[in-house]
Amino acid sequence: MLDSECRTEVELRRDLVRFSRLLYRLGFMPGTSGNLSVRLDDSRLLVTPTGVSKFLLRSADMVIVDLQGRHLDGYRKVTSEVSMHLAVYRHRNDVTAVVHSHPPIATAFACVGRGLDEMLCQEAAMTLGVVPLATYATTGTEEVAASLAPFIPDHDAILLANHGAVTCGTTLLEAFQKMEIVEHLANIALVAHQLGAPRTLKHEQLKQLRDAKTRYLQNAL
Ligand SMILES: [Zn+2]
Repeated sequence: MLDSECRTEVELRRDLVRFSRLLYRLGFMPGTSGNLSVRLDDSRLLVTPTGVSKFLLRSADMVIVDLQGRHLDGYRKVTSEVSMHLAVYRHRNDVTAVVHSHPPIATAFACVGRGLDEMLCQEAAMTLGVVPLATYATTGTEEVAASLAPFIPDHDAILLANHGAVTCGTTLLEAFQKMEIVEHLANIALVAHQLGAPRTLKHEQLKQLRDAKTRYLQNAL
């Protein structure tokens, strides 16, 4: 079991249901959009199916695929966006969970060709750092994996041009929280620009924040 909390398949199915509902309620997965996945073991993933509201999803609806995206188990069809998830797992052995959604403000940034690349608030520097923008790719095609590839090794959150966002983590909770933060940072950036000329953090301030983050992580161990 690779999940850092060593959760069983039953627990991971419940987690997928829980975080799907939370993301739906946040307005990040309207209709049947968005998808989540988690590693079951070295060779299998548990993934949300295509065409089901994330509010109505049940544990039994999940699909098991291998790392090539081939259907192994489950009565539903896997999401057509599974290749996006596979690309992240392929490049990142440390990743156990992936979330893809369409948070409205972050997606609006992605629609005007902007990543979240200004370090405006301390939280941005302490959490995700720069959230880059991957080039345009048609959803459900291999183009998506290719567009993400340059960014996956160094980023846990990436915007997809004219589409949405993808986040990853060592647990579903972590991947979910990163998606929450992406939208939060997008909201701050939007309002800061509406209010006037935002003041980005200076080089020295960013260094101090990086040091503080290192201390925080050491204390958390
Ligand atoms: Zn999508």
